[in-house]
Amino acid sequence: MLALTALVGVFLGPAAWRRLRQARWRQQPFPTTWRRILRRRWPLYARLPPNLQARLRRQMLVLLAETPFVGCNGLAVTTEMRVLVAAQAALLRLRDDAGSFPNLREVLLYPAAFVVDRTVPDGAGLWRSERRVQSGESWQRGQVILSWPDVLAGAADPADGENVVIHEFAHQLDQQRGAATGAPFLGHRDRYPGWAAAFGTAFAETRQREAAGQRTLIGAYGASAPAEFFAVASERFFECPAALAQAHPALYHVLSVYYGVDPLAW
Ligand SMILES: [Zn+2]
Repeated sequence: MLALTALVGVFLGPAAWRRLRQARWRQQPFPTTWRRILRRRWPLYARLPPNLQARLRRQMLVLLAETPFVGCNGLAVTTEMRVLVAAQAALLRLRDDAGSFPNLREVLLYPAAFVVDRTVPDGAGLWRSERRVQSGESWQRGQVILSWPDVLAGAADPADGENVVIHEFAHQLDQQRGAATGAPFLGHRDRYPGWAAAFGTAFAETRQREAAGQRTLIGAYGASAPAEFFAVASERFFECPAALAQAHPALYHVLSVYYGVDPLAW
């Protein structure tokens, strides 16, 4: 039987084979313990309409079947950790034709925020080394790195507009076809002009206001680069949709089309 399954895999090619396996995982029963964790630790779950709850559970089944979770710095990964990461990530894949995260290879979890050393351009043509404390990172090679306390805090308050899982998995989507640019793969060429117009206006306005010392919904970090703007706007879209729709209606609209959901209605 195993040999036969492998033969079918070779015959279909890796992409079709993966879709076939995903379709099977989607039909698996959703464990009661996972459901309990969602109810206890992630208040947003109860607010989702039943059809989106069901879609979220199916996406979680795929994500958790496909993705290895690695505990770093001595962290022992528990079911609760895997379920809460997968649930918040699956929020980004609720559009009815959304697949999984195509390049995702593994999730690395840390017991606390972690320190990253790297060289960054100094703006004058040279490079300087920089040390940063991070709650999360997303790498183009398919790794998402998260601090567990930040994952938990993000889940506990689903209306503060801050969510490290949404942020890093938005980067993963943005990195689907190379370095993050703030424009994820939209599926069809016709969709880019509308995205660029809505996004460009909101980004320019945010940068201008931040430069003038004014408070903005997206904030200084989001204004630092288009890729960060997309990731932070995604956090606000899911966690404070009314504020985003009011501040940047066109941006809210293109995000709503891209993610295939309307959180204002939840
Ligand atoms: Zn980021």
